[in-house]
Amino acid sequence: MRIVLLGPPGAGKGTQAQRLTHWLRVPHLSTGDMLREAIRHETEVGRQAEPHMKSGRLVPDALVQQLVVDRIAQDDCVGGCLLDGFPRTAPQAKMLDEHLAERGMALDVVIKIDVDDNVLLSRLAGRGRLDDDAAVIAQRLQQYEQLTRPLADYYRSRGILREIDGLGTPDEVFNRIMAKIEAAKPAANSRV
Ligand code: AMP
Repeated sequence: MRIVLLGPPGAGKGTQAQRLTHWLRVPHLSTGDMLREAIRHETEVGRQAEPHMKSGRLVPDALVQQLVVDRIAQDDCVGGCLLDGFPRTAPQAKMLDEHLAERGMALDVVIKIDVDDNVLLSRLAGRGRLDDDAAVIAQRLQQYEQLTRPLADYYRSRGILREIDGLGTPDEVFNRIMAKIEAAKPAANSRV
């Protein structure tokens, strides 16, 4: 299955992504991880992405799209993948759909984890990560909200958006996600 996982910073997306990839046996494609790795390895993409990421802004579409297109083309993605952190904007979503359609593929389901902003702020403040100072957190939440609305609308209009209540234990949230994915699985003998 090809799945997109959406959720604001602090929604437990990373934990859920890990569980999902284990359960579905598909690779986890996190653009944030890919970009951080590109920065660590001092690649050209990393060099261009770094100032944007440092200041809490999105990396330009073209950069991140190329990363995703190259990654999806790899053998381990033939049976599906879990996209995490991509698409982030409606243009990225359209590009992804077109890219997949040209190859006879499509997304099966988009899972959006919803958590109230006040809960997110207190969770993120508690994490105390170096790059998570208050101003950056606030900017990331605001940016998520602004960008995700059109993205969610786009997938809702296509009938593949499933919204999940992100409050509760990781097990509870995972059970909700699994139920939505089970319901969205393509018929019969497809592997997952
Ligand atoms: P994440 O780990 O998903 O929170 O991503 C960390 C940072 O990487 C973001 O704040 C962006 O600067 C950049 N990034 C990750 N994914 C994307 C994307 N799809 N489009 C643009 N920038 C992205």
